[in-house]
Amino acid sequence: MLSASLIVKSKGDNVICSNILRVLTATQRSLAVFAVITTILIIWICMWLFYKVMYPRPPKSMMPKEGDVTTPRTCNFCGHSLAEYRGVLETQPHSDAMLATDEVVADTADTGTTKNQALFFCNYEHQADFHAGKTYKAHS
Ligand SMILES: [Zn+2]
Repeated sequence: MLSASLIVKSKGDNVICSNILRVLTATQRSLAVFAVITTILIIWICMWLFYKVMYPRPPKSMMPKEGDVTTPRTCNFCGHSLAEYRGVLETQPHSDAMLATDEVVADTADTGTTKNQALFFCNYEHQADFHAGKTYKAHS
C-alpha cells in the first residue's frame, strides 16, 4: 500500500520533472536567442561609436558654403584633384591675347591647361612653386 502510493507519487513527480525540463529547455532556447540579439546589438553600437570617433564629421568651415564652386579641379602643380572652392584659382591676365595666337595653344597643350581654363592650385605654396618653375616631388 505504501510502496504503491510511492510509485504513484514518483510517477507524478516524473511528469512534473519532465514538464519543468521542457520549460527550462524552452527558456534556455529563448535566452540563447536573446543573447544572440543582444550581442549583435552591442557589436553594432560599438562599431557605430568606433566610426564616430575614427571618422568625425569635417568642421563646418571645411564644408561648402552658398556660392562655392564644388566642381573638382586638378592642381596644375602636383596634379591632385580638389574641389574648386578649396584651392587657389588663378585667372590669367593675358587670356585675350592667348586666345588669338596659335603658339600659345601649343604651349598650353604641354602644361595640360586649355586656353579658357584658369590655373588652379591646391594652395599658395603650390602656386608659388609652379611659377618658380619647380617640379613636384611627392615626398620633399
Ligand atoms: Zn597641388
